[in-house]
Amino acid sequence: MSDINKEFAEVVKFHGHACPGLAYGFRATRLALRELGILRSGDEELVAVVENNSCAVDAIQALAGCTFGKGNLIFKDYGKQVYTFIKRASGEAVRVAVSWQPPGEGTEEQEAWRSFMAGDRSPAVMKLVQAAKKAKMGKILAADDRELFKVSRPEVALPTPARIYKSLTCRVCGEKVMEPKAEKGSTGPICMPCSANE
Ligand SMILES: [Zn+2]
Ligand SMILES: [Zn+2]
Repeated sequence: MSDINKEFAEVVKFHGHACPGLAYGFRATRLALRELGILRSGDEELVAVVENNSCAVDAIQALAGCTFGKGNLIFKDYGKQVYTFIKRASGEAVRVAVSWQPPGEGTEEQEAWRSFMAGDRSPAVMKLVQAAKKAKMGKILAADDRELFKVSRPEVALPTPARIYKSLTCRVCGEKVMEPKAEKGSTGPICMPCSANE
């Protein structure tokens, strides 16, 4: 296996399956790490700002070490295939936007996609759809960076590091809730799910 395939296999292990979205995220992350001069993930603290929550984001978590738990993965629900990576120490940033136009598919594949979108999960349709996905993934993995992405170097404000807040106890469920997320009523704090049920 070549280095790129070995690396992709690691990402697939994390995500649970191989798919075109994951391949985009994988290629975008590799490009960003190289642009920022980071040889291995974890060498430097990176923040990733992702503008969708698709399969691609799992490649970023696995390869760049940016995760929700660490507070260095920020989700903006814009529905765009755009990924911005920022070095925490210097603020240096790279923005990677998917700009690839996949080569057209044959009429048989187009038919299969139409049936799939309409809810058809018959073996014949699934076989064609899976084959089309696999072909697309292979093309994404093999394409040139310049074909896949539009790359820029924006000036971005660094997101503030995760803060620790004190906990309050919800007066309804008795569970702990971080202070800025609790509503403070006259009879005591209440968490958002309980407040919605009142
Ligand atoms: Zn996937
Ligand atoms: Zn509650």
